[in-house]
Amino acid sequence: MSKLGSADNRLKVAIVGAGPSGFYAADALINSELKVEVNLLEKLCAPYGLVRTGVAPDHPLIKKSIEKFALMAEPEEFNYFGNVSVGEDITIDDLKETHHAVIVTMGAETDRKLGIPGEDLKGSHTATEFVAWYNGHPEYREREFDLSHETAVIIGQGNVAADVARILSKTVDELKFTDISQHALDVLETSKVKNIYIVGRRGPAQGAMTSKELKEFGELWDCDTFVDPEEVILNKASEDELADRNGRAKRKIYELFCDYAQPKKPHKARQFPWTKPYVKPRQCHIQFLRSPVELKGNKKLEKVIFEKNALSGDPFKQSARGTGELEELDAGLLFRSIGYRGVPLDGVPFHDAWGVIPNEKGRVTKDDVVVPQLYTAGWIKRGPSGIIGTNKACANETIAELMQDIEKLDNKKEKLGNKKIHEILDAKKVRYINFIEWEVIDKHEVENGKPKGKPREKFTYTDEMLGLLT
Ligand code: NAP
Repeated sequence: MSKLGSADNRLKVAIVGAGPSGFYAADALINSELKVEVNLLEKLCAPYGLVRTGVAPDHPLIKKSIEKFALMAEPEEFNYFGNVSVGEDITIDDLKETHHAVIVTMGAETDRKLGIPGEDLKGSHTATEFVAWYNGHPEYREREFDLSHETAVIIGQGNVAADVARILSKTVDELKFTDISQHALDVLETSKVKNIYIVGRRGPAQGAMTSKELKEFGELWDCDTFVDPEEVILNKASEDELADRNGRAKRKIYELFCDYAQPKKPHKARQFPWTKPYVKPRQCHIQFLRSPVELKGNKKLEKVIFEKNALSGDPFKQSARGTGELEELDAGLLFRSIGYRGVPLDGVPFHDAWGVIPNEKGRVTKDDVVVPQLYTAGWIKRGPSGIIGTNKACANETIAELMQDIEKLDNKKEKLGNKKIHEILDAKKVRYINFIEWEVIDKHEVENGKPKGKPREKFTYTDEMLGLLT
């Protein structure tokens, strides 16, 4: 065989999962010095992972990265296989057989559990389900959220919790020109939710939201945000954290919490009579130092029991410990938003406790030994943290390791790459789509959004998408 990565013996790489890390990995390979063939396989018809099905609809600028990813799909070395479930339609062994390397970039699809009694009561949901539902993810299209209760609770204070709280707090008028799915907007229009609690187990110096997201709670049309002034009083270790030179970002967040703890000035009337102060009908309450210990209800959630916490430990290592003091809150809806979690894929080692694929800088390992041919990038490699751009450095690190391994990759027999993928999928009668077909679907979505003033109206059923293609 000629040299691997030469024009007549391209390096053939399959990538599983078309989220940001999948695209960044493909782009790094295509822009390497080697001649490559990259085959990107995705379970859904639509590419872009959480940029499409996770990023909040009212954050259109973050979604702009889609334009960069679409450009990455243009080179002739890039092949897209949408609507293909790796593990069902084609196996990891099939991909290993037909490629020199396989990179798993399937993200973190599920959520962490609280592990408390009543967690599975009706009305108790994961944030990931709600986010996927309002973003039109086909697998979550039929989920139902009962918004008939006045009080909703969100556990966790990261940016996902912020997204969920904002979507519950906003009016339909604030959302209707975004790409939020119509079915979700219709349900939100009937929402009776007016008290939204965003509850953290630690204090205001440890909030996981970023300041930009937290600031948005002061800009909601019909919802005021409150923090109890007693709860922004810090212990010594938290003061030290904020005073530390690495504490700048957290200090900014803490200051915003303090702003929300100030008495509210009357709002200007938004309608006649203009002189009457306007009272916003919804309220967000950001609360600290509480952990849910039980969800109660007769078949459906009625009450959340919290235990008050105290912090202990050195600065930056403080953990929350229960004090034994309990508190009850009547609520009909709860979202746990305590972090995403990866799911295992047949044929790929998995670290169950961490919810990631064990790896060394992207080289997949099993029992600390590198598994040849298998690589990983993105949230399934490092856990669910960081912004979209974080995945670029993560994918680049993986590709750099792969490049170092090039001499070790099997170059004894020809790898058939995408030719063989087509053969396997055709034999199984899988209706997979290529990138040109995705672009047809994409154009229809954009067209369907225009009459409503939306950037797009997403198709939320796979059959609808496939029905557009001949
Ligand atoms: P996250 O930032 O890790 O936040 C998780 C939250 O859950 C933290 O407040 C954490 O508190 C809490 N938590 C964890 N375990 C808990 C438990 N057992 N009981 C109670 N609370 C618990 O996760 P995320 O919000 O899912 O976001 C994931 C990543 O996506 C983050 O990097 C985030 O910034 C990013 N993201 C960004 C945007 C954006 O840029 N607009 C939007 C969405 C998501 P502790 O601090 O005490 O652990």
